[in-house]
Amino acid sequence: MGWTDDRVEQLKSLWTEGLSASQIARALGGVTRNAVIGKVHRLGLAGRATPTRSDRPRLPSAPKVSMRTYAPEPPVVEEDPVTLEDGSHATVLTINDRMCRWPIGDPAENEFHFCGRKPKNGSPYCEAHARKAYQPQQARSRDKGRMVG
Ligand SMILES: [Zn+2]
Repeated sequence: MGWTDDRVEQLKSLWTEGLSASQIARALGGVTRNAVIGKVHRLGLAGRATPTRSDRPRLPSAPKVSMRTYAPEPPVVEEDPVTLEDGSHATVLTINDRMCRWPIGDPAENEFHFCGRKPKNGSPYCEAHARKAYQPQQARSRDKGRMVG
């Protein structure tokens, strides 16, 4: 039995689907497995991709990103910085041991200054800022911690 266009098309599609030469021969009928293989080679289909049901190891999936939930930060009591007699705030130049050293603002900015209130005993900070500085570890560990070690 010869290869009609229809049978060639059928051969092509069955081959593409991944059937073996003998399966294709059975499906087409009237041809041997060898005939199918020979036709496949002549059609240039031989280099078909690896079987579909391969046991190739699957790429490891991306590591799961654990979604850490942070405890909401406790409400912060903001204290207005002390305004000095000349109307300015405590800065790196005017800060002293009798002033709260809580930084306010961005150190890169001109408005950066210190709280300047009267410090709590034994603390560089005023009462409100001392509370803020020593608030529970979990609330402040977000930005540090990873650097350790
Ligand atoms: Zn303060």
